[in-house]
Amino acid sequence: MSTLLNSSFTEPSASPALLLLGQNKDLSSERGVECTGDLPAASDPDLVARARVARAALGDRAFILGHHYQRDEVIDFADVTGDSFKLAREAAARPEAEFIIFCGVHFMAESADILTSDAQQVILPDLAAGCSMADMAAINQVEECWDVLTDAGIADVTLPVTYMNSTAAIKAFTGRHAGTVCTSSNAEVALRWAFDQVGGVDGTGKVLFMPDQHLGRNTAMIKLGFTAADCVVFDPRKPGGGLTTEELRNARMILWRGHCSVHGRFSERNVTDIRAAVPGINVLVHPECKNEVVEAADFVGSTEYIITMLNAAEPGSSWAIGTELNLVRRVAAAHPDKNVHYLDSTVCFCSTMNRIDLPHLVWIMESLVAGRTTNQIVVDRDDAQWARVALDQMLALPGL
Ligand code: SF4
Repeated sequence: MSTLLNSSFTEPSASPALLLLGQNKDLSSERGVECTGDLPAASDPDLVARARVARAALGDRAFILGHHYQRDEVIDFADVTGDSFKLAREAAARPEAEFIIFCGVHFMAESADILTSDAQQVILPDLAAGCSMADMAAINQVEECWDVLTDAGIADVTLPVTYMNSTAAIKAFTGRHAGTVCTSSNAEVALRWAFDQVGGVDGTGKVLFMPDQHLGRNTAMIKLGFTAADCVVFDPRKPGGGLTTEELRNARMILWRGHCSVHGRFSERNVTDIRAAVPGINVLVHPECKNEVVEAADFVGSTEYIITMLNAAEPGSSWAIGTELNLVRRVAAAHPDKNVHYLDSTVCFCSTMNRIDLPHLVWIMESLVAGRTTNQIVVDRDDAQWARVALDQMLALPGL
């Protein structure tokens, strides 16, 4: 069964088994749950009016960024929407804005802080809005990995490439080792550049790709012509990454064992089922999906690519989209003349993206109006400097 989004979509009911944050039941996962001051109730009937008043009071002093995976109630107040890279650039292009309110997740706010001036304050409405993928690569693990590559005698022919979806510390590591950041839009260009630094795609040099193994593998195999045998997965929880020295020396792509908990849900079976249910349907997925899903799909690309494809699609055409549900629902609503399905038969939002809601946005804005800055994201100065090197390298790649 598939889910046709622009017909009769129903919200899933809450599961009683879910752990409720904010009740001090799991302190390790409740970072940033408490708010200093009053967090408005989600049921407050004046919430939208309060948001409008606070937004108007802040005027040009504030600039609100909304990632594509945010809730509609938040997107309604965004000055600009986009993917993480576009939003970081939009923030950097607004030096007059004293406050950058980033409605997204933690690593995005970090990148915005790195790319904006010291006079600007970047604010994340809920500090618990992290990213499970970014959290899969801790800086101490990456440094241990580099020691393993050094011991194997291959560190000097390996260049790190990190996906935008990584912490500032990982971006800084990449900058210190002369690598680059990439996005889902420019991963091919970034990988070709990286291999050029270590002898070319046809040579013997290697790339350490972090933290999303799927984006790395999909780009290497589909765009650069590598085989599955050229790719190995470094598991930071195993001694030596779970790889022998010979496996590391033979590899061309050393993929970090990380993935997106949302895109990792899609399966090849989803593609088979939707094709059987809707003959002639176009299957369009994000490159964070597993390789077998991407291989089975008709089109693969970033969130911006997905939006562009639907804008250009023929009326009456059918599409199954494999990415985060908030975006797919908005795309479906914008194209009532097309049949837009969600690729998975079950529903999955990005739970951390959904931490940002209208109560938190109102709380942040009203605090700023009252002269209080809360939830400011500040990157360590040394990390910021080296992360900026890796981000600037990405900006210097062709096509950006
Ligand atoms: S959708 Fe995936 S990669 Fe994006 S913020 Fe959520 S967990 Fe991270």
